Amino acid sequence: MTRSDTLFEQAKQSIPGGVNSPVRAFNGVGGSPRFIEKADGAYVYDADGNAYIDYVGSWGPMILGHNNPKIKQAVVEAVQNGLSFGAPTELEITMAEKVIAMVPSIEQVRMVSSGTEATMSAIRLARGFTNRVKILKFEGCYHGHADCLLVNAGSGALTLGQPSSPGVPEDFAKHTLTATYNDIDSVKALFETYPKDISCIILEPVAGNMNCIPPVEGFLQDLRDICDQYGALLIIDEVMTGFRVAKAGAQAHYGVTPDLTTLGKVIGGGMPVGAFGGKKEVMQYIAPTGPVYQAGTLSGNPIAMAAGLAQMEALEEDGLYEELARKTKYIAEGFKALADKHQVPMAINYVGSMFGFFFTEEQHITSFAQVTKCNMERFKAFYHGMLNEGVYLAPSAYEAGFLSMAHDDEALEKTLTAADKVLGSVDLS
Ligand code: PMP
Repeated sequence: MTRSDTLFEQAKQSIPGGVNSPVRAFNGVGGSPRFIEKADGAYVYDADGNAYIDYVGSWGPMILGHNNPKIKQAVVEAVQNGLSFGAPTELEITMAEKVIAMVPSIEQVRMVSSGTEATMSAIRLARGFTNRVKILKFEGCYHGHADCLLVNAGSGALTLGQPSSPGVPEDFAKHTLTATYNDIDSVKALFETYPKDISCIILEPVAGNMNCIPPVEGFLQDLRDICDQYGALLIIDEVMTGFRVAKAGAQAHYGVTPDLTTLGKVIGGGMPVGAFGGKKEVMQYIAPTGPVYQAGTLSGNPIAMAAGLAQMEALEEDGLYEELARKTKYIAEGFKALADKHQVPMAINYVGSMFGFFFTEEQHITSFAQVTKCNMERFKAFYHGMLNEGVYLAPSAYEAGFLSMAHDDEALEKTLTAADKVLGSVDLS
């Protein structure tokens, strides 16, 4: 028994499933999760003293690598002044101004404490602003665990929402329409059926919760056009992609302007932070200026703001996004070349510093349906092989991988050496 195994058994006694968020439990790959003791740069270290090159990055925030000295310093300085006031601070203005300066579509922004809160609040705002009830999301996109967003596609792409979890009443879920990602006709059909009922479309501009699926050419702009045609709002959920795919998010990368944007992960530098923002006219509709209620005791927390600001300032360094993209391409193309070498069928996707790899015969992966048909057993074998070689990938075939600035050439080389060994030796049949 490793210490991680022992801790997992102990954790299960006092914490449901031993974890505070399900995917951490390794359900997708089997075995015990590694209990992490510390992290630094590109590495995480487990309770048994093993080091791993980390491609999870706390699920996205660690774009500069772990334990970045500038962020640590900002947090230490902020702590000197107290942990929380529940009253406005100048730091919050600095943060708002920074977000607005970096993301052109955002004219006003409100801070929250998680991505779930950001999307839940943005949807409430869209419903209140348009005075419409239904929302449209895409199968395979995850936007947090608010009731209206925890909805599957059901038996087909164009069905009314079915709750994907007990505890979500059907009466809530029925207002969530589910379309097929990268299939504009599925969206058109829903708008034709409910022309005056859909308040908003919400989507991940690069889907990162069904592995890594970029939008096909024109898809985001077509969604923008449909929203304009029917008077619905376009919410681009950049909790994962914001400040990662590009400095101004995936919306800048693909040249599409949403009405509202949701943010999280990178914006907090590792602290619990989310945000939603957009057109002033819409944002003015939330309390206290407007009638739509939204609040948070710890929203705009000074320590979280200090960490997030320090990270965002560091992201303005010239050439940083180009460097992240170079590293990401190197890893993704490297995996693919090694898979080809060992005759293991694999497809890859990558955008900015997000990447995905798929054990499949198909070469262009653009849909959720294709992802579900990938060889999951092969993924699990590869996953554990890489873990044994000291590479920590996301423990699920439905999650994107993330690069950081701390992944230096040595870490990248070691990763590919590990992949070469695993693809060549582990039984991936
Ligand atoms: N939106 C997206 C695109 C996400 O990836 C996530 C979390 N992975 C969320 C929202 C929810 O964020 P949180 O887990 O911070 O509530």
